[in-house]
Amino acid sequence: YSYEDKPKAKRWDHRITPEALNRKGNSLKEAAKYLGKSGLISLGGGLPSSEYFPFDSLSLKVPSVGHFTEPETQTSGVILTAGKHDLVQDKSIFDIATAFNYGQGTGSAQLLRWIVEHTEMVHRPQYQDWKCTMSIGSTSALDMAFRMLTRPGDVILSEEYTFSAAVETARPMGVRVAGVSVDEEGLLPSSLNDILSTWDEKIRGARKPFLLYTVPTGQNPTGATQSLERRKAIYALAQKHDLIIIEDEPYYFLQMQPYTGPNTPDVPPPASHAEFLQSLVPSYLSFDTDGRVMRLDSFSKVLAPGSRIGWVTASEQLVSCYQKHADVSTQGPSGISQLVVWKLLDEHWGHEGYLDWLIHIRMAYTQRRDIILAACEKYLPKSIVSWKPPMAGMFHWLKIEYKKHPQASSKTIEELEEQIFLKVIDHGAMIMRGSWFYASHEEEHDALFFRATYAAAPGEKIEEAIRRVGEALRGEFGLEQ
Ligand code: PLP
Repeated sequence: YSYEDKPKAKRWDHRITPEALNRKGNSLKEAAKYLGKSGLISLGGGLPSSEYFPFDSLSLKVPSVGHFTEPETQTSGVILTAGKHDLVQDKSIFDIATAFNYGQGTGSAQLLRWIVEHTEMVHRPQYQDWKCTMSIGSTSALDMAFRMLTRPGDVILSEEYTFSAAVETARPMGVRVAGVSVDEEGLLPSSLNDILSTWDEKIRGARKPFLLYTVPTGQNPTGATQSLERRKAIYALAQKHDLIIIEDEPYYFLQMQPYTGPNTPDVPPPASHAEFLQSLVPSYLSFDTDGRVMRLDSFSKVLAPGSRIGWVTASEQLVSCYQKHADVSTQGPSGISQLVVWKLLDEHWGHEGYLDWLIHIRMAYTQRRDIILAACEKYLPKSIVSWKPPMAGMFHWLKIEYKKHPQASSKTIEELEEQIFLKVIDHGAMIMRGSWFYASHEEEHDALFFRATYAAAPGEKIEEAIRRVGEALRGEFGLEQ
């Protein structure tokens, strides 16, 4: 598998903001390239001597491969240690002295190499000059991407219900989000094409959008997963209208086993790593031949949100802009965090062990998803609530037939939504209001949704919470309890 016969990414000079084009990078960090010269004594970089780091060693207890549950980890977990000077003592290729010092905006070479290998294994990018660089999580990566690619007055496209932080990041930059209609497979190509083909700068007061922000897998909040055909259709439109796609994929590895319905046997777990990787819907990155996809990955949902480590995969040009910004702002993720994650992923589990872990997570989320679906079947009044079984992620999207509400003719959707939200809280449960995820408040909404997650509470609590939601809804809609 070589990249040499693959095309090179397109250039994005016409899209990149003057702010990003003007960044020259961090000149002090540039000097680091000379440090490899043998015998060089550096009085250059202001790196504190590790002698003054009050940390001598670090030890972590983590699961061994194949024994991933909490009780198993307690009994058969493995203790990993990192010493301060493991590198010079030839004990490891990463240590406290290195990881806890200043590093490059890309993140450490050690963890970055693992990330690049993983990306190559999972996505097999289809152009020559792709690169990865670490982020401090996708929230920050999105903020930096918007600064790199949008100007005040611009409009970004996204699912009509979208990750609220994306809208909240864009708005203060003077950037609005236009909602693209969705169905159970997420973004609708016809809606995307309509918006772009009929865009009139004068009426819209903004230049034609060229940035699509999408969460293709287990979308937040709708839980929708785009099929491969859907992704291909959207990509073809991105080529037609010259869009850059920001593919934000924190839930990519929360793709679950097929849903078989209540009281039916479970589908057995993937029998091999190849089968597991085969079962995942291919990413946009995996068939992007133009280098128009900027993919955001994150360890938040698969290892721990507090790791604050994610990565960006895109063309060399886009990654270089990102990295120049990181060098003078976030820098790489915390070195303490990088060392901990690297110890686990590279030195202990390796790529194969990590895939086993991802399969474990897949099975655990499948079980939780099945619990919430069974509870919904049992407790929710079907005359007013409907849903589609989520295939990925951690969200269950409930549609409420608000027109059947006794006050439907005198109240707005948002008023009814608030009333139901508060009633559910009265009954001792909480689910999120759909309107909190509007891409835009300028567009009309003719549907009422709530988002429930099966990630946070244990199984029996999920069931009880859904029972309470059912009770509250029956009360609100005047149905028999
Ligand atoms: N993107 C989406 C769509 C999310 O739902 C979330 C978390 O809720 C994030 C990004 C945040 O990711 P991170 O923890 O990497 O900043």
